[in-house]
Amino acid sequence: MLEAHDLPGGYAHTFKMGGYHFYAQVHYIWGCGEGGRIYEFLKHIGLDEEITFELFDPDGYDHMIMPDGKRVTIPYGWDALQENIASAYPESTGLDRFFDLVKSLREEMARLPRKIRWWDVALKGWLFYPNLMRFRHATVQDLFDHCDVSVEARTVLTAQAGDLLLPRERLSCLFYIGLLGGYGSGAYAPSEFFKGYIDRLVAFIQSRGGDLYLEEKVTAISSSGRTINGVTTISGKTFSADHYICNMDPQAAAHMIGWDKFKPSEQKLLQYEYSDNGIVVYLGLKPGFTPGNYDIGNYNTWHCLDWDMNEMWRACDRLDLERGWFFLSTPTLHSAASGMAPEGCHTLEIATYLPYQPFREAADQSYAEYHALKMQLADRLIDLVVKHHIPDLRDHIAVKVVGSPVTSEDFCHAPFGNAYGSAMTPKNTTTRLGAETSFSNLSWCNASSGSPGIYGTVMTGMELYMDLTDDVFFPLDRLPATSKNDD
Ligand SMILES: Cc1cc2nc3c(=O)[nH]c(=O)nc-3n(C[C@H](O)[C@H](O)[C@H](O)COP(=O)(O)OP(=O)(O)OC[C@H]3O[C@@H](n4cnc5c(N)ncnc54)[C@H](O)[C@@H]3O)c2cc1C
Repeated sequence: MLEAHDLPGGYAHTFKMGGYHFYAQVHYIWGCGEGGRIYEFLKHIGLDEEITFELFDPDGYDHMIMPDGKRVTIPYGWDALQENIASAYPESTGLDRFFDLVKSLREEMARLPRKIRWWDVALKGWLFYPNLMRFRHATVQDLFDHCDVSVEARTVLTAQAGDLLLPRERLSCLFYIGLLGGYGSGAYAPSEFFKGYIDRLVAFIQSRGGDLYLEEKVTAISSSGRTINGVTTISGKTFSADHYICNMDPQAAAHMIGWDKFKPSEQKLLQYEYSDNGIVVYLGLKPGFTPGNYDIGNYNTWHCLDWDMNEMWRACDRLDLERGWFFLSTPTLHSAASGMAPEGCHTLEIATYLPYQPFREAADQSYAEYHALKMQLADRLIDLVVKHHIPDLRDHIAVKVVGSPVTSEDFCHAPFGNAYGSAMTPKNTTTRLGAETSFSNLSWCNASSGSPGIYGTVMTGMELYMDLTDDVFFPLDRLPATSKNDD
């Protein structure tokens, strides 16, 4: 494995600052219960008893704070979620229709063959997948409009838009349903935190004769005809193999290989628009901070400052944080294990969507200008947390680190700092790269060539492994159940 960063794990890596460990990006995942893909992957390699997971609070793994101050919790299972919304907003409309449609779409998605051929669509599509055929190009907003879902319910249901990094007017309903159904089947963090998860996987690879080369950024990929011959890294070393698996962004890799060397049909798929990212404020808190005093627990908090996620997105585009949304997470509360922070201390991570361009332009001017922009925006985000959640937050801060989309670009080598590879629009849902490339000995294995998120990338990796080895250990068409009890 050739890794450009000095730490393994991509966006799931953990970094240390001033005695505190911070989750660089990933906070919660799904598919970790028996039958889920992450669990079954770990079981297959014999690590299911060593890498275990902790479930987020069953009463609400996400807490949505509405502009009127109401807190609506997101429990496991569609029915419980519908009840919570209806009890917070009894005047809600469209919920029955919406959840019926979502359940049908998810059931049809679970039945889809993994490789969809055009003649399957033409012959069987409308007969076996009527809802998918009808809504495959739909956004979440289209579903809401179709079901006449009321404003308050729309806001609750899309308060976690940061998980998908698109507002409902641009977000594919299929990605949205995948995520809501996935977390609805169980939202987890690793018992030994993401650091333990990644470290154990690295040790496993090394124990089986694999090598991990850190700080070996791939800078050139040579090919002849339909064959990759080798890759060269920043240190000048050249590596060759029978088969190459590319986890870096496929679009960037294609430019490195030579765009014209790809078949025209693949060039078309490679021209995807990237997803966005945002700002993360990582705080290490001093001893004496008691999260429970501030309604902070084993869940994430998503705070909406407006009723319309589309408007909140536009506000963030203008850097108008006070009209947007923000996210709060306390990784130290997701497991009883220690090691993330000094004894008795917690970490708090605050995030929201912000565009890449202002940070890039400031960084191109000077580091001082970029740093000032980051700090000014982080301070305004902290002001919002002070105003709405933790009035004395500033007294508790021991360590403060701020990440922007440019940080993601610098440390995780994500073009334009993208969070999820290609943007989760309807277009990128229905026309999407797979593992297969124009080269006989090169496979894509990245969020943009399969599915995003950790569940998605584990799924993408498992499927490629099964294709390459014929060691089929997981039914290829299975989604996790939508209620923890069914999982
Ligand atoms: C703010 C944020 C929050 C998120 N929260 C969650 C969450 O809570 N749950 C969840 O499931 N998902 C979350 N995600 C999404 C998730 O992190 C990604 O979808 C997933 O990590 C994609 O995996 P990947 O393997 O495709 O890419 P990455 O994780 O980006 O890994 C790619 C790796 O390739 C390396 N690389 C790139 N170029 C080169 C090169 N030239 N040479 C060598 N190495 C190279 C990078 O350094 C990196 O290690 C979040 C993302 C962000 C940004």
